[in-house]
Amino acid sequence: MAEVVHTPRVFSGIQPSGGLTLGNYLGALKRFVETQDTGGVETVYCIVDMHAITVWQDPDKLTHATRELTAGFIASGIDPAKSILFNQSMVPAHAQLAWIFNCVARLGWMQRMTQFKDKAGKNSERVSLGLFAYPALMAADILTYHATHVPVGEDQKQHVELTRDIAIKFNNDYGVDFFPTPEPVIEGAATRVMSLRDGSKKMSKSDPSDMSRINLTDDADTIAKKIRKAKTDPEPLPATIEGLEGRPEARNLVNIYAALAGMTVEQVIADHGGQQFGTFKPSLADLAVARLSPITTEMDRLMKDPAEIDRILAEGAERASEIAEPIVKRAYEIVGMVGRGKA
Ligand code: ATP
Ligand code: MG
Repeated sequence: MAEVVHTPRVFSGIQPSGGLTLGNYLGALKRFVETQDTGGVETVYCIVDMHAITVWQDPDKLTHATRELTAGFIASGIDPAKSILFNQSMVPAHAQLAWIFNCVARLGWMQRMTQFKDKAGKNSERVSLGLFAYPALMAADILTYHATHVPVGEDQKQHVELTRDIAIKFNNDYGVDFFPTPEPVIEGAATRVMSLRDGSKKMSKSDPSDMSRINLTDDADTIAKKIRKAKTDPEPLPATIEGLEGRPEARNLVNIYAALAGMTVEQVIADHGGQQFGTFKPSLADLAVARLSPITTEMDRLMKDPAEIDRILAEGAERASEIAEPIVKRAYEIVGMVGRGKA
């Protein structure tokens, strides 16, 4: 069968499961903006509210978090005229394709997903079925746009790989070359920002400890306090990168510095190697405040007009549907469902 060449298209999403963190900003948002601004490729960014409800969300908080996340995208530099920006639940194609993918993905594949194991913990009998099926919905998010590139943090690599497996199995099962096999794009100095309280855990917006993360809504004093209190070891920063080996908390702060400053880890070590944390942490706090406070201020301004945010999302959803609907329609035809235009 002739290989179909898919036009490059970028898709990624963030859950409105809390406020945006520095991890979301460095691992995802900042890179979404860079991709948009490089140009030459269509960029589709989604506030994945259907993923958020895989764990309980208070309805009013979900509404607020969806608008705040939209404000965070725009304040960080996503231009709704250049990128398609919308919330997942407004485009039914995601859920429609997800059902087909629930039937393509194998139970054994899903059981290997580390995010499910991490989030379910010891309580796996009592978590939602949605939490388990999450990666099939994520595959639908990506593939309903025939996206080829998915910028994500390191933690989502396994889900993008599962998406590839689902695309390949669908194509094989139905003898078509319909879905592309998308690539995860994991780049930069901070692809996995760690918790400020525990260097072995990733920073997450859903972590119960607010001290574990920097939120995009934190003010300057809060950011400085959280960095000052961040867990570290008693040694000064090493003089070489190798010296960061076995020092996850030190490595994390150096990575964050590098990503915020647009420097390499080598350059940060060249400038700050040998410093005590009592010296390095205030420099890091100043840098974080300088980079984040303009975003926070702009988010505050945007949040004063929720109707305008809702309008932007609705417009984005319309543009997203124009791409997604024909693809899902074709997928249903391929599967043999009657009534969606099959001859
Ligand atoms: P939750 O705790 O609810 O899962 P989260 O903080 O993990 O929230 P997600 O919405 O799941 O955020 O992920 C959005 C994007 O941010 C994904 O691309 C993910 O890889 C990236 N991301 C999340 N946490 C980090 C982190 N600590 N470092 C780098 N990237 C991250
Ligand atoms: Mg997550």
